[in-house]
Amino acid sequence: MAETYDVIVVGGGVTGASLAYHLARRGLGRILILERETLCAGSTGVSVASIDLLAHHATAAELQLRSLRAFQHSHELYGDECGWVETGMALLVAPAAADGLRAVAATVRAAGGRMDLLSPGEFQAVEPACVADDAAVVSWAPEGGYVDPVLLTNTLVNAARRLGVPLRQGDPARTLEQAGGRVTGLRTGAGTLAAGAVVVATGPWTTRFLRASGLEVPLRPNRHSVAVLAGPAAASPRISFLDGLNLIYARPESGGLLLCGSLDEAIGNDWVEVEDGCPVPAQDYGYWVAERMIARCPGLEQGELRKGWSGLVTMSPDLQPLLGALPLAGLYCAAGFSGQGMKIAPAVGEVMADLIAGDAAAAALLQPLRPARFAEGAPVPTAKLFGTLG
Ligand SMILES: Cc1cc2nc3c(=O)[nH]c(=O)nc-3n(C[C@H](O)[C@H](O)[C@H](O)COP(=O)(O)OP(=O)(O)OC[C@H]3O[C@@H](n4cnc5c(N)ncnc54)[C@H](O)[C@@H]3O)c2cc1C
Repeated sequence: MAETYDVIVVGGGVTGASLAYHLARRGLGRILILERETLCAGSTGVSVASIDLLAHHATAAELQLRSLRAFQHSHELYGDECGWVETGMALLVAPAAADGLRAVAATVRAAGGRMDLLSPGEFQAVEPACVADDAAVVSWAPEGGYVDPVLLTNTLVNAARRLGVPLRQGDPARTLEQAGGRVTGLRTGAGTLAAGAVVVATGPWTTRFLRASGLEVPLRPNRHSVAVLAGPAAASPRISFLDGLNLIYARPESGGLLLCGSLDEAIGNDWVEVEDGCPVPAQDYGYWVAERMIARCPGLEQGELRKGWSGLVTMSPDLQPLLGALPLAGLYCAAGFSGQGMKIAPAVGEVMADLIAGDAAAAALLQPLRPARFAEGAPVPTAKLFGTLG
């Protein structure tokens, strides 16, 4: 007889880890995390993991605020740390995006978050390493920061393990088993597993995996390149920022480093196939980012470019994730985070577990992000601010 679980979570990234912990905590029976390779083998292991608090709609703002509180209280909630570092997060925009940014700040505040609007001069007082005279307005979220994505995932998996959830690594799910219009389990590299429900948290592999069972989702992998700079301490920003004028972002890293990258759709963000791999970015990309970083933080002229890396993000057409039921009873999706899944991972696991348990409030909260919205012609109306940002 096949091994039997109540819920199988496919994918051992931060989303799968959070799902597994919250499903077990809610007492939803025997849970399994099934991972094709090793924990954090996908986007999670290479994430910049900035927590920017940028949100265009109420559901996104609530997922972020709930997740922020989880990062801040990781030890109490999950029994261990997640590497939370509060740096504050600024977002600088040109006049054309100023109204959009004011709307974002209002959405974040309505959800209970802090996001102030500063003049360029006020911002320079917050971060003297930056010049900002070209910005129309700057938002400042003092509670923004970053996490350690691998530590967070391991902390969640260990919390799930303490609740009896096994992690099976090195065993890819191949296809879904189905009967009578519902999912009944999975065929894996090693055999067949029976399940009452399956949650697909397979990141950039999601389209490929579901297609093997005759299901389509509009998700595509995009390869994002990260540049690493080392600047003189006095000239390096201590805050994190998103720069809508130069189309770059940066956050501090330990060892005096800065993790930076492009927010320009045409530079360092390339449509690829999931098997294309993630090479070290070309030196030209590092120079492109460094030039714009120096324009924003002139003292970085004395800095050095270090080796960067690249990783796959999973893009959806409206830059919002697909969270909820798929058109096969018992099958759920948590993917398509469009480069922004770290900042909401704790709440995604919690609210999806509630949804699977039949909780009406969770269903209402996630309704705008239901996977069926594209087939229904009702994507989330995204007031995109600039570049790759949703
Ligand atoms: C370079 C980069 C920078 C980023 N920066 C940020 C940021 O600053 N802030 C932010 O919020 N987000 C950021 N993100 C996005 C964020 O990291 C992702 O949204 C998040 O890690 C997604 O986690 P996941 O668990 O959904 O997917 P993944 O981490 O991709 O995990 C999916 C897992 O599923 C496994 N899998 C796939 N197929 C199968 C199968 N058939 N059977 C079993 N297992 C399978 C994979 O091996 C993988 O481990 C960034 C991403 C990248 C790549």
